[in-house]
Amino acid sequence: MDKHKAPVIVDYAKCPPCSGLICVGVCPVGILEVGADKKPIVADAASCTRCGVCADLCPTKAITVTRSKET
Ligand code: SF4
Ligand code: SF4
Repeated sequence: MDKHKAPVIVDYAKCPPCSGLICVGVCPVGILEVGADKKPIVADAASCTRCGVCADLCPTKAITVTRSKET
């Protein structure tokens, strides 16, 4: 596997984080975890389905879901 593009990118400058860490709670495959600074980290990028739920529900729009393929 060459350079793996991250399926979700968290813009930490936009993440306060919110109370309750919404994204961590809503990920259906549970791959978002609370990092040392209380901000979300993508713990298992390979399992991300790019469903977009985390990005949709983030109150500050801090999360971007990337395309699965790039030409
Ligand atoms: S896009 Fe979906 S599967 Fe991937 S981290 Fe966000 S909520 Fe989880
Ligand atoms: S939902 Fe958004 S603001 Fe809340 S912890 Fe996740 S990235 Fe940060």
